[in-house]
Amino acid sequence: MPEIISENVSISLLKANEAIAKELRDFFNKKKIFVINMLSSPGSGKTTLIEKLAHYFEKEKICVLVGDVQTERDAQRLRKAKIRAFQIVTQGVCHLEAIMIKQALSLIPEDTEYLFIENVGNLVCPASYNLGEHLRIVIISTPEGDDKILKYPKAFLTADAIIINKTDLLPYLSFDSEKVKQDIFKIKKELIIFFISALKNEGIKEVVDFIKNAKEKIMK
Ligand code: MG
Ligand code: ZN
Repeated sequence: MPEIISENVSISLLKANEAIAKELRDFFNKKKIFVINMLSSPGSGKTTLIEKLAHYFEKEKICVLVGDVQTERDAQRLRKAKIRAFQIVTQGVCHLEAIMIKQALSLIPEDTEYLFIENVGNLVCPASYNLGEHLRIVIISTPEGDDKILKYPKAFLTADAIIINKTDLLPYLSFDSEKVKQDIFKIKKELIIFFISALKNEGIKEVVDFIKNAKEKIMK
């Protein structure tokens, strides 16, 4: 958020967002739609990950809302993979807000059981906007470096699980997985961490099991 916005304005904006997020959560619970909000920097591999995750779900049970500042490219890419996907173009806004999800509700097919929200690529403000989700997953990829956790604590603090993507590149990078784990646990002890390579299809099933188990627990 730009600094010129006074603290009072940003607090009231966030309060308004919270109220809509609560409405959304009630709607999703009533419709039995389990919602996963995925946060990351640009280029961490969110769209590829969703493509790979989708293989483990019945296609008619999932739907994806993709947020981007411009273009429909990600939603088109997912639709090519026969995944039901709709783009939210934020026209410059660098995060999704609950109101944008509310405006997109009519697009979500009735038989949806899992709704994936691919947030705008940004590790800062998306963390402050509740979208009524049941699960928040933060993804970082190994080329981004192993110093991101303490730089963007809010994203990690509000997450339910962390995915470290692109582990296939580890041999070529000075990415210290142990340090990353320690930094994550400094921020939040109970976080679950998955090391995966979406491109190579490694570790995907574990993430799917985590999501399905979370749905069982949370939605009963
Ligand atoms: Mg994407
Ligand atoms: Zn933003």
